[in-house]
Amino acid sequence: MRIFVKECPYLSNRTLSLNDRTYAYLLSVSVDETELLRALRAETAGDKFAVMQISPEQGQFMALLVKLLGAKRILEIGTFTGYSSLILAEAMPEDGELICCDNSEAWTEIAKKYWHKAGLQNKISLFLQEAAVTLQHLLDNSAAGTFDFIFIDADKQNYPLYYEQSLKLLRRGGLLAVDNTLWSGSVADPENMEPGTRAIRRFNEMVKNDSRVTKSLVPIGDGLTLIVKDFE
Ligand code: CA
Repeated sequence: MRIFVKECPYLSNRTLSLNDRTYAYLLSVSVDETELLRALRAETAGDKFAVMQISPEQGQFMALLVKLLGAKRILEIGTFTGYSSLILAEAMPEDGELICCDNSEAWTEIAKKYWHKAGLQNKISLFLQEAAVTLQHLLDNSAAGTFDFIFIDADKQNYPLYYEQSLKLLRRGGLLAVDNTLWSGSVADPENMEPGTRAIRRFNEMVKNDSRVTKSLVPIGDGLTLIVKDFE
């Protein structure tokens, strides 16, 4: 049976801009946030950097990606207070391994507390130093091509560097997810020349012109670019 648009006034073939009511509905029917994740969200809400925490629907989406990939080896660049790491580690099988990079002792102390509460501490290793140093250390120690999934959510100025290092660390067919690639829409404003905005623009252009990968910028959260390292 053919369906005409005039018969479907509620169809949209363009990504919706969610109002509060639609967003609340989306959360209510599609997010399984655990008690522990809710508690971590509440604890982080008092931090002036709380906006750095990923949204519940993005966490749900990333858990799905981990399961879809059957990822057993994950790298997270930028851990903050641990919300995404909890989700990633939980979604992996028992013998999975998550390596976390962050340089804040205060933030990762909170993350560690929740890893223990969730019984996930054995799956997670934290490198508390500049992420670029950790990534180079991994590359120098035969970790190239060994990661199934990498999540980049750290200082935006270094996104181009993390991107190149991550592509080396990722296995072929592995997935790279990069956060904040819409940067609240500021990347589309030509008058916005703030350093973070320029860095994300530069990164987005790099990915756009990179023939080694297949990509999609998904407008979830603040924009999440998914990048598959191609087999050929
Ligand atoms: Ca982020």
